[in-house]
Amino acid sequence: MVDVLLNIKGVSRSFTAGEQELTVLNNINLQICRGELIAIIGASGSGKSTLMNILGCLDKPNTGSYFINGQDTSSMDDNELAALRREYFGFIFQRYHLLGDLTALGNVEVPALYANEGPQTRHEKAKKLLTRLGLSDRLDHKPSQLSGGQQQRVSVARALINGGDIILADEPTGALDSSSGEEMMKLIQELHRDGHTIILVTHDPHIAEFADRVIELKDGEIIADTQKRIPAETSSLIADRQSSQASMKINWSRYLEALKMALIAMSNHRLRTFLTMLGIIIGIASVVSVVALGAGSQQSILDNIASMGTNTIEIKPGTGRGDRRSERVKSLTADDANALKILPYVDSVTPTVRTNVAIRYASETVTGSVQGVGTEYFRVRGYALAKGQYFADDSIDALEQVAVIDANTEQTLFSDGSALGSVIFLGRLPVRVIGVTKPIESVSDNSDELNVWLPYTTVSGRILRQNYVNDITVRIDANVSSDVAEQGIISLLTMRHGKVDFFTINTDTIRKSIEKTSETMTLLISAIAFISLLVGGIGVMNIMLVSVTERTREIGIRMAVGARQTDIMRQFLIEAVLVCFCGGALGIGLAYLIGMIFTYTGSSFQMIYSSTSIVAAFACSTLIGIVFGYLPARNAAKLNPVDALARD
Ligand code: ADP
Ligand code: MG
Repeated sequence: MVDVLLNIKGVSRSFTAGEQELTVLNNINLQICRGELIAIIGASGSGKSTLMNILGCLDKPNTGSYFINGQDTSSMDDNELAALRREYFGFIFQRYHLLGDLTALGNVEVPALYANEGPQTRHEKAKKLLTRLGLSDRLDHKPSQLSGGQQQRVSVARALINGGDIILADEPTGALDSSSGEEMMKLIQELHRDGHTIILVTHDPHIAEFADRVIELKDGEIIADTQKRIPAETSSLIADRQSSQASMKINWSRYLEALKMALIAMSNHRLRTFLTMLGIIIGIASVVSVVALGAGSQQSILDNIASMGTNTIEIKPGTGRGDRRSERVKSLTADDANALKILPYVDSVTPTVRTNVAIRYASETVTGSVQGVGTEYFRVRGYALAKGQYFADDSIDALEQVAVIDANTEQTLFSDGSALGSVIFLGRLPVRVIGVTKPIESVSDNSDELNVWLPYTTVSGRILRQNYVNDITVRIDANVSSDVAEQGIISLLTMRHGKVDFFTINTDTIRKSIEKTSETMTLLISAIAFISLLVGGIGVMNIMLVSVTERTREIGIRMAVGARQTDIMRQFLIEAVLVCFCGGALGIGLAYLIGMIFTYTGSSFQMIYSSTSIVAAFACSTLIGIVFGYLPARNAAKLNPVDALARD
């Protein structure tokens, strides 16, 4: 008893072309037994390839049913059909349909990959098959480096690697010269003797001679079915098929393979890949550097504030910053400053009286700021003495004409040497220099600023002749909350004045508000950078869509040799993610480069890179790859194998 392997019952297939419906196969009934060598012949357009595609589960009939080894295919989904293709069929196409990016060996391995074969076995098997087909010295050749006959032998090896119980050959000699064609037919006969069931499509009656049974198609119907020889009986399926249960490890190897394929595809289209990445690179670089720039500028501002003195509160007359009358408000006095000293959390206090006068020594005259201050001024501001001494309380009481100058002023006025003990003229007032301060380490320190400090009594009594001060600066104990101290100072002064005719500036508050502002700015610029990322992502999607269209034939081939939809999807998704991931890495590199250039150009601050922003950038670019790669990947996976194969 010969058992029926393929059973087609009442199958019809029609295509709609525009308004018209074209019936290509009309009520076909056909049984094919194990071990047969069948030729399907007929004129061009008679429906041979369409029948072949249905036999190979690449296409589905519109009506009728098709059983493979007793299994009904009509209720199967795409993945189950892919599994059938892997398990039962090996395809040989007229135009070979090899993957141009892969070597001969790589091409032969593809079906085994989708059948979950481990890399080692798959490699061995492919090598053995190619050696058997006389291609042992062509393993690493790309299809373009092989002759037609050699390419067709590679495709035979590919058809056999998963067993290939049933070999479907659509015009296998159609593109070959006569001697290669003959060789191919010998090979097919050999495979038949080995027990493979072979279905051959040809329009060449000479080729059909080789077959045991010839089926003739005309206009989609079988018009003749001639049995020429009774096939030798074969006992069972020849393939030693392994279970399709995928182990975890082998699944990983499929991911690895998809990654390899993605790398090959990327390196074969380097320019296109780079242009695709460009959007991501710019997006990521701008996000990372904007955040770093924000952090850097914030840090430098905070450093400046810290250099203004730690934890200081400034008290000024008037109702607030920008009050134009405040210059004329004369409410603050030196007594207020002294009164503040009794508050427990006040470390030191100084009143300040300011004026600009000509500072003269010998023939040198400059304009500088002369400040009348208290003895604690230098502590409040954090100055240190380079030489000489500060003035003491009795200098203040006596309106002494003594001055402390900063290093800058000393250099400007006393180019020849030490200022200590010299007399300089402030306007017409002679004062003796008793001390010189060290320069303060501050980024913002305006190096050409000249400072001369006198007892405040001297400035207000001998230069300005006024009894009020311009402002009072208080240094708070380090461990006291500046907000609490500020409130205490305000209530004390309000009590003394009977009204609030002054305002306070708390460096702590300034710091907080700067932190907040720069956070907002960073957020804002990041949002803009994010939009550029989005645009980059859309670019990736476009290119991937083009790539899917361009590689439709490749997708068709992969599906024909048994790739599942998930395999195709994975391949394109991995490619998209890889593009974005590399783009992200290059973008971060670019951001660092920008930072280096930024530092090199001698800007006043450095960019500060946070690891969070870098991790976020990577996550972001990978996410873009997934999100924008999904649509093209799904499009690729949804392609119909026959349509995809037909594409060039
Ligand atoms: P053969 O292989 O015998 O030369 P085919 O099976 O390839 O013929 O095609 C049979 C007929 O079906 C042809 O007229 C062809 O134009 C038509 N046909 C095949 N595939 C499609 C399709 N996807 N859409 C529309 N018409 C098709
Ligand atoms: Mg055809």
